[in-house]
Amino acid sequence: MHTDSEFLSTLKQYWGYTAFRGIQLSIIRDISAGNDVLGLMPTGGGKSLTFQVPALISEGLCLIVSPLISLMKDQVEHLKRRSIPAAAIYSGMAPRNIDIVLNNAVFGAYKLLYVSPERLESRSFLEKLRFMKISFLVVDEAHCISQWGYDFRPSYLHIAEIRQFHPTAPVLALTATATPRVVEDICRLLEFRHNAVVHRMSFARKNLAYVVRHTEDKDSELLHILRSVAGSAVVYVRSRPKTREVAKLLNESGISALYYHAGITDTDKDIRQKAWMQGDARVMVATNAFGMGIDKPDVRLVVHLDLPDSIEAYFQEAGRAGRDGLQSYAVLLHNGLDSRTLRRRVADTFPPVEYIRSLYDDIAFYYEVPIGEGEGLTHEFHMDEFCRSFKLFPTQVESALNLLTRAGYLNYREAEDSVSRVVFLTTRDQLYNYTNTQGGEEVVQALLRTYTGLFSDYVPIDENHIARITGFTTDFVYQILKLLNRQRIIHYIPRKNVPRITYVRRRLLNKELVFSPEVYDHRKKQYEERIMSMVHYAEQTEQCRSSVMLAYFGETEAEPCGQCDICRAQSVKPQAERDVAQIILNVLADGKTHPASDLRFDGIDTDYVARALQALSDEGKIAHSGEGFSLLS
Ligand code: ADP
Repeated sequence: MHTDSEFLSTLKQYWGYTAFRGIQLSIIRDISAGNDVLGLMPTGGGKSLTFQVPALISEGLCLIVSPLISLMKDQVEHLKRRSIPAAAIYSGMAPRNIDIVLNNAVFGAYKLLYVSPERLESRSFLEKLRFMKISFLVVDEAHCISQWGYDFRPSYLHIAEIRQFHPTAPVLALTATATPRVVEDICRLLEFRHNAVVHRMSFARKNLAYVVRHTEDKDSELLHILRSVAGSAVVYVRSRPKTREVAKLLNESGISALYYHAGITDTDKDIRQKAWMQGDARVMVATNAFGMGIDKPDVRLVVHLDLPDSIEAYFQEAGRAGRDGLQSYAVLLHNGLDSRTLRRRVADTFPPVEYIRSLYDDIAFYYEVPIGEGEGLTHEFHMDEFCRSFKLFPTQVESALNLLTRAGYLNYREAEDSVSRVVFLTTRDQLYNYTNTQGGEEVVQALLRTYTGLFSDYVPIDENHIARITGFTTDFVYQILKLLNRQRIIHYIPRKNVPRITYVRRRLLNKELVFSPEVYDHRKKQYEERIMSMVHYAEQTEQCRSSVMLAYFGETEAEPCGQCDICRAQSVKPQAERDVAQIILNVLADGKTHPASDLRFDGIDTDYVARALQALSDEGKIAHSGEGFSLLS
């Protein structure tokens, strides 16, 4: 048994922190004592230390299952900087390197090993796993195991199977979002033993003010908010093109912004993420692809221009503000149209069964797969091209493919092994006249030394490897490769995830396809329920926003937060409303007509201004025309 002071001295020695936070120590004690543990902690609550500290003290290897490659890589880097031996196995790694890591793990070279859940299905991994000495198993983002959760990942269902190899190793499951139903699923599906403990940290975020703004003009409202709240910000939107549009709008308005979505290359993702992390750009405009594992403490503001499709998702995304504990804001811009759009999303996510059947045929036609054949075939899938030829919309196609995957007919997923490729466009002799670019020569030399066949065909390359050889950063290598590409010395195709479709079973007649209630009806209903909770959050006007969210996560006793728009509206009345009215009358006292933009005041919510304007006009004190507001005398 380890003592609290041992945990504390490890924390001090490796991280330099003086105390544990919240429920960290309770989790560490229980997992070290051999209990199965579920830790529920909001984002920023300090999940990582709850396994990193005991991993260091325990004998053997702590195996962490995590769905996010970027997060794994970040954590491994972070641990290595602290001289803690750690490694990760993720898709895109060369098989040889995977083998090396696995063998090292068997020999006890690491204290922590991160793997993606898909890896648990790999035979070679399982064989090696038997020989590893496992201290305990960590399941990060544990809600992914539950079909009730908003982010179900079927590969999570295999996690319990690996317990049989190491029956005495306890399991630590961690998540930042869990409704009571999900909690139950996690414990059951991970086969928690009778000694299991659940530690729950309140999800209340004392320094985060939740605000919903009703507005028909989201762009101006966004600009107004970004001008009133200083500091780093994230703006979430639903669609990829919109990330670019909004970033453009912000840049044109003098607010530095970048955009990010799943469709840009991994290297661009890295570069933009870094620029935003370092504060080179103030705002990141992104889809929900951005954020997991991004640990920027001083985000002051998270604005949503569209409704996310669940409270879980909203809580996670909004929660990226204020990790440093300082005052921050999570603002949702909303209007009547949004709720309608959200309801339409149900139809998009669950297209009619007839549509799915006909898509199944279209896919077979596209790949020329005859009835009764095709089992095991895998094809790259180019959504845009497919949708163009069949005149379909990507959203529904994507949903239908996901449903066909879930029903077990096809397997549609992002490619696991995408790599960058390079071919030389010049001959070896010509090459020497060219490479006068700074760093160009080193990169070309490193390529030539590492790979063969570069002059005849596209060869898969790894920018990280070239970076290690040359001593440059991966970014710099990427920039040089792009430059060499522009100079037509090489042709460089940066890696990008191209999704693939695999026929899990032979092609059937479309009327033979069965969509069970578990695959379709039940899930559709759950999805609707989740969406309706989000609509309720945005549209209700009675209850503290924070309390609505906490109740959703099973915390029903929460006190009103005192800082959301609803709490503030309730406490500010009626004196403040009279004050606001007086401020407005002062502005209008010059007898001129003032547009609404003149009637915005720092530190006063626009909702109060709107209410005061309404009251003044009801009382007959002011008039409203197309040009704006004026005093009625
Ligand atoms: P989560 O994974 O729960 O979102 P992290 O594990 O990334 O959170 O921790 C969030 C931040 O809090 C990190 O910067 C981490 O170093 C810091 N942190 C965690 N625990 C402590 C502690 N006991 N004392 C000081 N800082 C801590």
